[in-house]
Amino acid sequence: MKWTNKGHELDELGAKYARVRNLYIWGACDDGKRCFDTLVWLNISSGFNITFVDSSLLKRQDLCCGRAVISPEEMLIALELGEERGNSVVVICSATYRKEMLSAFEYGENQENVFEWTYTSHAQKNNFIAHFLSIFMLYKYGILFWLQMNFISTYKCNLNCRSCLNFCDYIANKEAKDVTFEEFKQHIDDVFSKVDFIYSFHIAGGEPFLNKDLPMYLDYVANHYRSRIRKFFVVTNSTITPPPRLLQALKKADCFVQLDDYSETVPLCAERLPIIKRLLDEHQIGYSVETVPWWYDLQFETTDNYSFDSRQLEEYRDSCNTLMHMYQYGRIYSCCFEIATANARLIEIDEMTDAFIEIAESSKIEFLEYSLGFTNKGYTDFCKRCRGLGANAVKIPVAEQVPKRKLPRR
Ligand code: SF4
Ligand code: SF4
Repeated sequence: MKWTNKGHELDELGAKYARVRNLYIWGACDDGKRCFDTLVWLNISSGFNITFVDSSLLKRQDLCCGRAVISPEEMLIALELGEERGNSVVVICSATYRKEMLSAFEYGENQENVFEWTYTSHAQKNNFIAHFLSIFMLYKYGILFWLQMNFISTYKCNLNCRSCLNFCDYIANKEAKDVTFEEFKQHIDDVFSKVDFIYSFHIAGGEPFLNKDLPMYLDYVANHYRSRIRKFFVVTNSTITPPPRLLQALKKADCFVQLDDYSETVPLCAERLPIIKRLLDEHQIGYSVETVPWWYDLQFETTDNYSFDSRQLEEYRDSCNTLMHMYQYGRIYSCCFEIATANARLIEIDEMTDAFIEIAESSKIEFLEYSLGFTNKGYTDFCKRCRGLGANAVKIPVAEQVPKRKLPRR
């Protein structure tokens, strides 16, 4: 999406959402409770009439989080009779019977007041946090609530996966470096000088457990910003056993660990994963074990979209549907993969003149618009060389190990 009215792109939606009074959380389940707890954490739950909705086809409870639980039929009657739809929002937190129920009541998924809770749909227009809560918070309270932030802590990795999206396989070992604590501190201070709350903040790499400064990162977050971050976690390839100092810092920062499970292709992962899980259990540190069915290959060496005009590139970028920003050098880059290629010196950072906004120079509303996909051009130059994550996406096996290679630098 190209900025045509910077600073005012969301005014209409913002005014509409600021009037919302009734919130229906569809799913008296764990996700429904997470949704409710997030509203409590943001200190805005008392501003809504919150009602849980659960399918009449299941055995229902009368109360959830101290709020009434009604059936979908009762919710729809309330929406039709008692209230204006414009003042009500439905957040779908349970997949059970969702499609059947929505279509049975002709309550389409594309309506502006029906949202999904699931974090995995973060780039979709119906994501509750990105496309309702963040807009609501800014227009109602002047508070900037950001969906997610990813910080690359190191360019070193002990693995060498085919089509690594951090492009580690293009970084010569002697050039791969850690991001120092001082650099991290500068960065996170910059971000929190503007952003009030972040839903999800994760530290990635390379392999973060290789960075000796990681415990200092975690201590700094714990001491200064932890109360402004809802979900805080580190992503690891599950091949390195965390030392005691790191375990201590993870615990103190209430930071959970995402253990990517590459056991099928990486024997070291199969060996270490149970050991790491045991250690985390012993120290009462939360973790999740993640497996995915495939990865994406951006195929930037062979993709050629240079014949696209600017309108086609904008459509291409929009269909890619990724809102994966990257925060670096006091800037926010609109596509994390583009800046990752620059970090691997596959393109020159100086070439990326229109790929970012400066944190210090941007207003909160510009931040919000940018987070939802607005940019100066509507695309980034790397889109001309990238298969993206949309209809054109190429899927490959997960964590397939390949020999390290080198490319001629641009
Ligand atoms: S584990 Fe694989 S995908 Fe992850 S950073 Fe290392 S090389 Fe890249
Ligand atoms: S097409 Fe590629 S460069 Fe463009 S936004 Fe998508 S992932 Fe980023």
